[in-house]
Amino acid sequence: MVRAGAERFGSFGLATPPARRAIPADKAIALLQSGAARPGSLIGYGNGRSYGDSCQNHAGMVVDMRPLNRIRSFDAETGVIEADAGALLCDIIAHAAPYGFFPAVVPGTQFVTLGGAIANDVHGKNHHRRGTFGCHVESLTLLRSDGRTCRCSETSNAHLFRATIGGMGLTGLILSASIRLMRVPSLDVVEKATRFRDLGEFFDLADAADQANEYAVAWVDQLAGGHGRGRGLLFTGNHAEHGSHAASRAGSRLSVPVRPPFNMLNRRFLTVFNAAYRWKKGRSPDPRRAGYQGFFFPLDGIRDWNRLYGPRGLFQHQSVVPEAAARRAVPALLEAARRAGQGSFLTVLKRFGDVPSPALLSFPRPGYTLTLDFPNRGESTLRLLAELDRITIEAGGAVNPYKDARMRSEIFAASFPQWRRLEALRDPAFLSSFWARTAKKLDVECNAPAAAE
Ligand SMILES: Cc1cc2nc3c(=O)[nH]c(=O)nc-3n(C[C@H](O)[C@H](O)[C@H](O)COP(=O)(O)OP(=O)(O)OC[C@H]3O[C@@H](n4cnc5c(N)ncnc54)[C@H](O)[C@@H]3O)c2cc1C
Repeated sequence: MVRAGAERFGSFGLATPPARRAIPADKAIALLQSGAARPGSLIGYGNGRSYGDSCQNHAGMVVDMRPLNRIRSFDAETGVIEADAGALLCDIIAHAAPYGFFPAVVPGTQFVTLGGAIANDVHGKNHHRRGTFGCHVESLTLLRSDGRTCRCSETSNAHLFRATIGGMGLTGLILSASIRLMRVPSLDVVEKATRFRDLGEFFDLADAADQANEYAVAWVDQLAGGHGRGRGLLFTGNHAEHGSHAASRAGSRLSVPVRPPFNMLNRRFLTVFNAAYRWKKGRSPDPRRAGYQGFFFPLDGIRDWNRLYGPRGLFQHQSVVPEAAARRAVPALLEAARRAGQGSFLTVLKRFGDVPSPALLSFPRPGYTLTLDFPNRGESTLRLLAELDRITIEAGGAVNPYKDARMRSEIFAASFPQWRRLEALRDPAFLSSFWARTAKKLDVECNAPAAAE
């Protein structure tokens, strides 16, 4: 066991305490194989790109999977790649790109591990075409605390396969996995930015944009009021026919070396930034060629940018609401944030499609997903987040657990009514702080004897 430093085992939001104790992957493997791991004592830790406490176990230890990062095999005909769970997505991209392959699903950062991407069943800008990351997993190797190593796929240990995808690390330790990559004509993307004046215009454009493009996502100027309310840019893209196959193991040119003592992404800065961004990006409706790093991972360009939020960090709120409720619920969510006077640095709106995930618990579902980032201002921010939860659940939607650091257990249960099926398959040695404050709390409440009359 090692004492963990804040930088090495934190969560991306920096609003929850980092892990105090960590155990290297090899020692955790030996412990699990011996069958001696204590109940609730472990949780896998990929690269800490989850925003809250789903990759933390404050009562136990996190298992540092990063040293386990070998690419084991790659079939340049089929695009199937097998790697250790701690391999980073950027390394998988760099390995496969020269052969004309790219992951079918990538989140907004390439600094996630293979295990973390599976455990959260992450989604990308092409959910409408490719579904989630889990849709492209051929098989995975899972180590359980009874010492067993199981190969899991749709045909072998299928119940564990489905529970581990999107299972937030609760079913055991993923040691390695095999995924199917997608053949692409090049890594470059031909991108188009279309301005929309309000959310009504966005909703009118979104369906057709999905039909015509591999990638589609919108940025909303959350702070604009009056006539500009709900304005933004719809980005669409497709891999370029003739372009680069060269991937670099991304190194950020810029970094935020220390955490400033205050939040630098304040309302005044954001108002100016948003107006400038909309003008610059939307200035021409013509398609333009973008490198894959800039198109998929723009925020990776500045290392540790989350530190700009200052010592209290940030909260991210990601909701999804059904298509039928979206025209009412999405404006209501944005209006609640505006009314509360809280500026979201990054406001992203996307339509999820209906490609089913193999996962037992998976956040994406048909409808529209809205992501907002808020500086942590204490009580007032927590009140706003609770209001966003309320609007989401009333609209029949769900709140994303791996972006969360504070949702109430009832919100989680309403978002994932099937959570007990994951609890039934949870490995007893594995528990996260998120699961302890949501699912376990519900479990205790349900099993508590009725109060005496
Ligand atoms: C800038 C930015 C952009 C993002 N954009 C998106 C996006 O577009 N779409 C999206 O879906 N997400 C997005 N995310 C969230 C991120 O993709 C996920 O949280 C991802 O799962 C983090 O992976 P990680 O390797 O850092 O894992 P961690 O955050 O360390 O862990 C994630 C989960 O995986 C479990 N885990 C990790 N490794 C293992 C293992 N070997 N065995 C078992 N369990 C394990 C952990 O216990 C935890 O529950 C973004 C995050 C950032 C910072």
